[in-house]
Amino acid sequence: MEANMNDHHLSSTNNNNSHNSSTNNNNNSNNVEVLNEQLYKYIQDIKCIDHHCHNILDEPGIFQLPLISSMCEANLEQDLNSLTFKRTLKELSQLLSTSTNNVEEIEKKREELGVEQLTSICFEKAKIEAIILDDAFEFKYNGKNLPMNDWQWHTKYTKVYRVIRVETVVEKCIVQAKKDGSCWDKFLNHVVKELTIENNGVDGPENHRQVIGYKSILAYRTGLKVDEWSLETVIQEYNTIQKELSPDVQTYRLMSKPLIDFFLQLTMKISAQHKPHPLPVQIHTGFGDSDVDLILANPLHLKPVIAAYPTVPITLLHCSYPYTREAAFLTWVYPNVYVDIGLAIPSLSIAGMRQALSSLLELAPIDKILYSSDSHHIPEIYYLASHWSRTLLYQLFIESINQQEINHQEATLFVDKIFRLNCLKLYNI
Ligand SMILES: [Zn+2]
Repeated sequence: MEANMNDHHLSSTNNNNSHNSSTNNNNNSNNVEVLNEQLYKYIQDIKCIDHHCHNILDEPGIFQLPLISSMCEANLEQDLNSLTFKRTLKELSQLLSTSTNNVEEIEKKREELGVEQLTSICFEKAKIEAIILDDAFEFKYNGKNLPMNDWQWHTKYTKVYRVIRVETVVEKCIVQAKKDGSCWDKFLNHVVKELTIENNGVDGPENHRQVIGYKSILAYRTGLKVDEWSLETVIQEYNTIQKELSPDVQTYRLMSKPLIDFFLQLTMKISAQHKPHPLPVQIHTGFGDSDVDLILANPLHLKPVIAAYPTVPITLLHCSYPYTREAAFLTWVYPNVYVDIGLAIPSLSIAGMRQALSSLLELAPIDKILYSSDSHHIPEIYYLASHWSRTLLYQLFIESINQQEINHQEATLFVDKIFRLNCLKLYNI
């Protein structure tokens, strides 16, 4: 590194007009261009592991859903006029070879292709090696549940791993406990059993098949400020919920802060005891749909949990946007904190995505940054996230190379780590 810096310093500051010197300068700049091109090709070609994403909708629901509804968490018409949506139409027109950027034409073309071919195109272009699915994401459109393809369906396109969504497990156990008339102890045992992953999940029982970690959406419910509650209060909350539930309850949405905080902590404890290594816990942070209280989605609130379970890896999802610098800080000071780049890419404008990645790179060690797309509902997001992550990381690393922070070799290793190696190591896969 030092030698390279000195070489460059010599060539760029030598104002000698001799023929030899200008030839050297030309050679050097040609050499840099070749190395830049090699890096560009490397970053375009590398396979990626998508560390956080969701199931693709099945037909015909996927084509009943307007494209804009999949591109924006708020699901609003106003987002038709955003930089991101305008850009995305142009990209999808190119991807699907339509004659115009017209949204109706793009939607018609998608339907003609069908979900299988569309997914095939997007996964191939995204160069996906494996995905880690949170497959507990249900989706209602106009009051109707749109059916999702199950995780097994996705194995037609790539290798699939899963994470268990903590709140969904607790909700299902609450419903079951109502049917069984379970007391707290029996209910708690059920939750512990559901959250305890054996055989690293790969050959485990059906509900644990391919499970390699956890996911929590507490930010969407009661926020990231996890409090300590007495067991008495937690049991009281449970008993109140059970008393108020109707006997024929089918689904339940957990909103009790004592229970949500208690089960997040329980998950951390179960993970800490997992052999041979604790399992990573993915936590939604930052922006999302209107359920999120954005103030309480700041990852800095997680400090007590991060510190209390130092052996449990926590991955902050969605670049923690707009708290990206806060997330970077946490990865910098805590060995067990990681951050991913999903949702921010491809949901923001080009300038926004660049800024978010740049904010991460200001402080976050490269070993703590994970690639993800947070794709949901439609396969196109898998492609868009991959495309923009590659494009913008290339630009940012070239800037660092030009400023002699890193060299091409180091940039190549950084690319390996962000797109694949960090994830393989973290999830032990
Ligand atoms: Zn997600």
